[in-house]
Formats: sequence, C-alpha cells, structure tokens
Amino acid sequence: DWIGVDELIGLASRRLQRYEPHVRIRHDIPADLPPIHAHPALIEQALFNVMENAAKFSPPGEAIQVLARRTDQGRLRIDVSDPGPGIPEAERKRIFDMFYSVERGDRGGQGTGLGLAIVQAIIGAHMGSVEALPGPGNRGTTIRLTLPWGEAADQEADTHDTPR
Ligand code: ATP
Ligand code: MG
Repeated sequence: DWIGVDELIGLASRRLQRYEPHVRIRHDIPADLPPIHAHPALIEQALFNVMENAAKFSPPGEAIQVLARRTDQGRLRIDVSDPGPGIPEAERKRIFDMFYSVERGDRGGQGTGLGLAIVQAIIGAHMGSVEALPGPGNRGTTIRLTLPWGEAADQEADTHDTPR
C-alpha cells in the first residue's frame, strides 16, 4: 500500500496513548512528505515498539518526540527521541538483539527484549535501517529509522501486501 507517514505515526501514537494515557507525544512532521510504499500494519508496529520504549524508559510526564524528514539521499527518516537515561555507546548495537535488555536497576523493564529485534526485522524487510543515537542535545535517546519511499521495495511489497 501507499500510505502517509503522518497517518502511520498518528496510528502508533493513538495506540500508545490508549494504554499509556499520560504519555505526551510531540510530533514534528512536515505536511508535504510523499507517501511510502510499505506494509502499513508492520511499519505502524515498528513505530509503536520504538515509541513504547521511549515512553517506558523516560520519566513520567516528560514528552517524547517523533520527527520525520526527507533526507538528502531521498529517503525517509523518522527519529523517535526521549529524555530518558540514554543507552551507553557499547550497548547501542546490542539492544537490537533478541532478548537483550540493558541491565539497570532504575528501570521497570519487564519486557521480553524482543521489541527492537522486531523493529529491525520489519525495517530490514523494507530495505531500511535502524540505529540508536544519543538524543537531541546529547540527552536521552534517539532511535532513527531510515526507509526508502518504496520504489526499491516494490516487488517485495507487492507479494506481501495485505488488505486493510
Ligand atoms: P519488549 O519491547 O519486548 O517488551 P524491551 O522493551 O525490554 O521488551 P526492546 O524494546 O527490544 O526490549 O529494547 C531492548 C533494551 O534496549 C531495553 O530493555 C532497554 O534496556 C534498551 N532500550 C530500548 N529503548 C530504550 C530507550 N529509549 N531508552 C533507554 N533504553 C532503551
Ligand atoms: Mg520494548
């Protein structure tokens, strides 16, 4: 499907807010972004997993931010940033491994450690990439998803499209 990035981010945001009613989400999404050719439910799930972490690992009441941009390389970038404790540089690749969780006493991490492994699989299937970075102003975390708009993934996507 061809689908609007803003729409997918909106869906993921509303889903997160449904069971984390106090989470504040700031959106910075240009109105003129072209649609992407992608599996809508999967991309929404990837966004949700990343946004859920941003909310879970930051202090209650602090806002998380979702920023979307068209890159100079003609790709779509989505940055999900939070003002939480951040991820030590040595862990920034391993957090995408299955069942991996950064050991830290001040976190209520009852998660399975699968969320980001699933994000990586979904984004990889769309020929995109995902990385963890320090957040804006070196504070907290930014998880950056980079996706093609869809031309490169057309043949793949066509065989796996599901009706919505
Ligand atoms: P699940 O998503 O399966 O419920 P989880 O959230 O623990 O469990 P992942 O989403 O894969 O698992 O994240 C892996 C680990 O990476 C987390 O346990 C946490 O240690 C670290 N992490 C992920 N996102 C952040 C973040 N925004 N800030 C700080 N640490 C993070
Ligand atoms: Mg998670």
